[in-house]
Amino acid sequence: MENPPTKQPTTENEPAELDAIREALRDSEARFRAISDVSPLGIFVSDAAGSCIYTNPAYHKISGLDFDQALGTNWSTAIHPEDRQRVLAGWRRAAQGIEPFKAEFRFLREDGSVVWTRINSATMLDGMRSRGHVQTVEDITERKSTEQVLRMAEEALFEEKERAQVTLNSIGDAVLATDLQGNVTYMNLVAEAMTGWSCPDALGRPLAEVFRIVDGKTLAAAANPALRAIAEDSTVGLSADCVLFHRDGSESAIEDSAAPIHNRDGQVTGAVIVFHDVSQSRAMAERMAHLAQHDFLTDLPNRALLTERLSQAIGQARRHRKQIALLFLDLDNFKDINDSLGHGVGDHLLHAVAARLVASARATDTVCRQGGDEFVILLAEIEQPEDAALVAEKLLAAFAVPHQVDGHELHVTLSIGISVYPGDGDNADILMQNADTALYQAKASGRNNFQFFRAEMNARAVRRLMIENSLRRAIRQGEFLLHYQPKIDLVSGAMCGAEALIRWQDPERGLTQPEQFVPIAEDSGLIVPIGRWVLREACRQVQAWLDASLPAVPVAVNISAVEFRHKDFLAGVAEILRETGLAPRYLELELTESILMHDGESSASVLDALKTMGVRLAIDDFGTGYSSLSYLKRFPIHTLKIDQSFVRDIASDADDATIVRAVIGMALNLKQRVIAEGIETGEQLAFLRALQCDEGQGFHFSYPLSAPDFARRLGGGADAPPPARSAGDDRRL
Ligand code: C2E
Ligand code: MG
Ligand code: MG
Repeated sequence: MENPPTKQPTTENEPAELDAIREALRDSEARFRAISDVSPLGIFVSDAAGSCIYTNPAYHKISGLDFDQALGTNWSTAIHPEDRQRVLAGWRRAAQGIEPFKAEFRFLREDGSVVWTRINSATMLDGMRSRGHVQTVEDITERKSTEQVLRMAEEALFEEKERAQVTLNSIGDAVLATDLQGNVTYMNLVAEAMTGWSCPDALGRPLAEVFRIVDGKTLAAAANPALRAIAEDSTVGLSADCVLFHRDGSESAIEDSAAPIHNRDGQVTGAVIVFHDVSQSRAMAERMAHLAQHDFLTDLPNRALLTERLSQAIGQARRHRKQIALLFLDLDNFKDINDSLGHGVGDHLLHAVAARLVASARATDTVCRQGGDEFVILLAEIEQPEDAALVAEKLLAAFAVPHQVDGHELHVTLSIGISVYPGDGDNADILMQNADTALYQAKASGRNNFQFFRAEMNARAVRRLMIENSLRRAIRQGEFLLHYQPKIDLVSGAMCGAEALIRWQDPERGLTQPEQFVPIAEDSGLIVPIGRWVLREACRQVQAWLDASLPAVPVAVNISAVEFRHKDFLAGVAEILRETGLAPRYLELELTESILMHDGESSASVLDALKTMGVRLAIDDFGTGYSSLSYLKRFPIHTLKIDQSFVRDIASDADDATIVRAVIGMALNLKQRVIAEGIETGEQLAFLRALQCDEGQGFHFSYPLSAPDFARRLGGGADAPPPARSAGDDRRL
């Protein structure tokens, strides 16, 4: 548009000038219209009052209005209500200054559809006064929707990152990422804590600087797991004993793995390492391994570790042509201390003993606790057996000094058995066995000494020797006691007698059953004094029950062949009856068939004498020997005790039932009573009743009972139910 002429027209040339002006105006108008028509921008012109006075086709397209509809409207009426306040506020701000106004807002068409527009507005000025505005209007819907998509994508990305960040920081594992060169690109909080590096400090640094790891066993630097994962393009685990150094130098055991990171094209762009502290679980595993090989009380190596060390030592000694000694040690009087002062003191004593043994041994020796009060010392390399003897002597000397434990002065001595490789065996088992045998020998030789294994030492013989020794002490110290097992009349169900059964309260072995020591006592002749004690004790006890007005019953005492044959036997019985004042009918003697079979004549005279005395006689374990009817007739036998072996299967084995029936029939003829031993079930009982057996004895009625328990049972009368099992019950398990 050209500026209007500034020169004032003169009257004379007015028509010509006017024409020229009109012409110029038309040109200007035509130019404006052409520009306006081709403009891709909408054009909206309003007068000073804000009413539309002109719009172009592009505006019609954007607004959905034609020229006539647009005329007279105000541009702001079409602003979307949600944008209105913001846009008008900007408009007012612009109106205060002179800067041009621009805004982006949604244009609300009459049909309700929305077009995103951008307007630029310029004021048409007449001097300082506004004559109206020209606005260009641009349809930016497309740009806006792209922007929105982008924004949403950004938001999603942000959320995603945030989620990953929170996740990475809240998991217990440390996470560390590197680029392709192995430089740190990311660390989570745990990784920061475990390495001592903050993420910003670590970024860009080589992994080896931040993540310093070594092999826990060799302490050699461990391979860079990120570079390995990148090179191999696969997940890699670290060596089992990996140790991580913190920036401050402290160490932690870790377990980890590294995996490559790929871009969209599948190319490796870096690696991520995930690791966690396994110090605790590794320490726990080490503790468990230690416990498996050590004694919990003294923390000395246990039997398992000893066996391992012994095998190793044998291998080495073989190569170096050296010898090994194995010392088995047993404390001589530990059980007494444990029993009298309690387990607490016992445990503390074992501790003290362990410490003293370790102090007496060399660093290369293995001192181990086998359990209980048994220890073993392995002398891994000796030149000659005498070296072991010196060690043993040193140990014995060390134990001459009493232990101070919990305010007690405790004297414990050692018995030591020694075996030497290769002389006494070329493998661990035999060496252990032989050292054990030598230990028994040391015990049997009076304790507080050591013995080398000797080939002639037979373990069994040594054990017997030891028991024999202990039995002598038991006799001296009165370590025996009697249990009583009721005998039941199968017709009335009443108790009609009892059998006295010996028990040995051995301070070392605990309550010991007759099978363990009676044969040894018989072999050594010790059964004579023991049997005499049994007889006296049984008689004394029955008399005591009678004196206490209990309904006492006859008590049977087992007599061994050795006792029976002893020249003083008969006199002994008579003396004991006199001594205790017991009426002979309360005493029954159980003899085995073999006694009678051997010296028939002399046996017969002793038995007759006993019968004359008024003592009853029974044949024990009947059916297992070689009895014949003729000899049964010869002797004054009162009762036959059918051996347990026939009773056990009586209900199922026809032969056993036949034998029992025959014995009962025979006894009937000889006017002898029959008692069945070892009745354990109601079925066996029913069978025996049906066969008219007179009496029975067995766990079905009662276990052998201690004297007080038996007295209670006597006091409770014959109808009392069998006692329930209790700690006092005598049952071999
Ligand atoms: P025994 O004289 O034949 O004694 C019976 C054994 O059978 C006892 O064993 C008794 O506890 C056990 N018994 C009782 N009822 C049952 C049952 O229902 N089932 C089973 N399976 N066993 C039952 P204990 O007390 O161990 O005695 C074993 C043997 O030791 C006795 O056999 C006897 O020969 C001998 N003995 C026991 N005390 C003395 C004693 O004071 N002097 C001598 N010389 N020998 C004795
Ligand atoms: Mg018996
Ligand atoms: Mg028997």
